Amino acid sequence: MKRLIVFDLDGTLAPSKSPPDVVISLLLHDLLGMVKVAIISGGSWPQFQMQLLPKLHADESLDNLYLLPTCGTQFYRHEEAWTRLYSEELSPVEKAKILASLQQALEVTGLAPERAWGDVIEDRGSQITLSALGQRAPLEEKERWDPDFSRRKRIAAALEPLIPEFSVRIGGATSIDVTKPGIDKAYGIRKLRDILEIPLSEMLFIGDALFEGGNDYPARQARVDCIPVRGPDDTKLVIETILACFGGDGEAEAAAPERQREGATPEEAEAAAPAQAA
Ligand SMILES: [Mg+2]
Repeated sequence: MKRLIVFDLDGTLAPSKSPPDVVISLLLHDLLGMVKVAIISGGSWPQFQMQLLPKLHADESLDNLYLLPTCGTQFYRHEEAWTRLYSEELSPVEKAKILASLQQALEVTGLAPERAWGDVIEDRGSQITLSALGQRAPLEEKERWDPDFSRRKRIAAALEPLIPEFSVRIGGATSIDVTKPGIDKAYGIRKLRDILEIPLSEMLFIGDALFEGGNDYPARQARVDCIPVRGPDDTKLVIETILACFGGDGEAEAAAPERQREGATPEEAEAAAPAQAA
């Protein structure tokens, strides 16, 4: 049995830069009652504070939750409040080179957007992130911009030779993350292993970008067991399955049939929830 369930945030637990819905919140709460959970994102701690924390049930179950912003270059756990264990930052010289190279990659590819909502390039301390349409772009605009990752693959291809000493990764809906080499979700996973003393073989990783070049791919390379999802609805089914394996009987299950009635034909709902059909 797995001792630690690790989730990506954007595109896995929640739509990009948006809060998780009420079903995910309930399912996470049930899961935290049974097993340790970690959430690793390229996003910054302020992003976690805005997007995720208000949706978590504030009770002792949070003691089982570990939050790793910027791929685990920061690590938070809950004691009486959220407490940071450490933070690892890029130097000012490193940041300046990355910022200039990102600008150059946008120019040479001609992929700088005509319109942006908020900052396009964000300094997250240990990571510089390009959000091609800006930090506050509407979700529907973001989903339309690069659904097949082809634009970001072109930007990344232009960027990599400019900053070979750094690591370039595609993530989120419109974003490219730049970090020191070796800072990726595998880095965060190894931090979890060392700090929580849980071997990689006893972890399960769930993410929407587990394909080669995606920002969850390092988890697979670290040989952690992985479950790819296409979005939060897939993630709900995965959590429900894990809960069933743990013998769970939480409040979220009450919300599940409602959701299945909304979204699926009776046949699909039955196939998705054989335990409830039985
Ligand atoms: Mg993701």
